[in-house]
Amino acid sequence: MSDCCSLGDSSKAPAVMACPVNGVRSKQVDMLTVKSLVRQLPLGMSKTQYYFCEAPGCDAVYFPLDAQAPLFRCGDLTVRVGVKETADPIPVCYCFGFTRKNIQDEIAKTGRSTIGERITVEVKAGNCGCEVKNPSGKCCLGSVAQVVKDCVRANQRSKIEVGQGDRP
Ligand SMILES: [Zn+2]
Repeated sequence: MSDCCSLGDSSKAPAVMACPVNGVRSKQVDMLTVKSLVRQLPLGMSKTQYYFCEAPGCDAVYFPLDAQAPLFRCGDLTVRVGVKETADPIPVCYCFGFTRKNIQDEIAKTGRSTIGERITVEVKAGNCGCEVKNPSGKCCLGSVAQVVKDCVRANQRSKIEVGQGDRP
């Protein structure tokens, strides 16, 4: 690998760091993910370990171990960071473009979601690119499962509220 593209040494950096904006403990993110999703990288960026703040309501997305290096906020990224967005479209799966609304609509219609299964098929076939597409750099299936759970619960609650029970 040529020196210009080397990813820095993450072995010495702490696994978890507090976000300098809201203090939430954040995990390491690969430099490849940061470089892929930040719209415009500053010149002369120092090689440091970056961390991903996934707290809703905090505008910081990637912050560096080395405080001299730049911190990147939501507006610096080429994608909307789903966990930090409150209005549609809220991306959940960045590789295949599924949003929270896709999951909500499917559950409203059928009571369940097949999106996780459809993504799993693609992941198994090696078609995903989470490392360079998902701001977390990780597979989205965990977040998909969480959103499905939330939507199923919200869907059941709304049915009870309008008094339809569980009838189709
Ligand atoms: Zn934060």
